[in-house]
Amino acid sequence: MQHRTLKQVILALSSVFVFSAAQAASVHFCYEAGTECAPANWGDLAEEFHLCKDGLSQSPINLYRAREARVPSLKVDYKATPLTIKNNGHTAQVNYASGSTLTVGDKKYRLLQFHFHTPSEHLKDGRAYPLEAHMVHVDDYGNLAVLGLFLKEGDHTNAFLKPIFDNIPKTEGEVEVAGVDVNVANLLPREREYYSYSGSLTTPPCSEGVTWMVLEDAVTVSKAQIEQFRAIFEGNARPDQPLNGRKIKRSDD
Ligand SMILES: [Zn+2]
Repeated sequence: MQHRTLKQVILALSSVFVFSAAQAASVHFCYEAGTECAPANWGDLAEEFHLCKDGLSQSPINLYRAREARVPSLKVDYKATPLTIKNNGHTAQVNYASGSTLTVGDKKYRLLQFHFHTPSEHLKDGRAYPLEAHMVHVDDYGNLAVLGLFLKEGDHTNAFLKPIFDNIPKTEGEVEVAGVDVNVANLLPREREYYSYSGSLTTPPCSEGVTWMVLEDAVTVSKAQIEQFRAIFEGNARPDQPLNGRKIKRSDD
């Protein structure tokens, strides 16, 4: 009898936890400075978001004074995936079918999705780029690794981004672009030197333990494409966070 009571208590507790986690997932956060849902207040919007204000290893950061180091080379093995684009209210996200991987030294990660921020979330020597792409990966133990890529303004339309930016739903929702496959390997620059540091998700719940790799070389995107993205997402970059003694490494070649 005692045992059953305990089990009931545990069940009740776990349903409370599930309920509050589901609630947190629906808490509205935003990027407009000075509003209640602004980045400065994310940590107060829900208990589950407390790392957004208490965390000591938060992202993004200003990439400067990086220490040149022997970092493992990146082995990108991305495949093409059918194009579906989700407007989740914060960004445009392309979910990836299974089978694409990123290998960093002896660690292998599976690519889950990629999405965009404007302006860039990471800064390079204090300066932002017009856009930043994030390729989000996970390993078999649930560790996250994000590959960041800066996009700068150039003269030509970025052919890889065209079918994506042309079809982003203007309001929350998902669209399947029939007959189009994309391979985000085609967005990457030829050179794969990168900055590396330990950080967090840049959106609530701001979970830490995320391995960040931000490519040093930017790729170009036309002014019209930057404006096309900004017509839907006016600004979705979290401000840069304190380094708190963390070391930033940079490929030494
Ligand atoms: Zn992101």
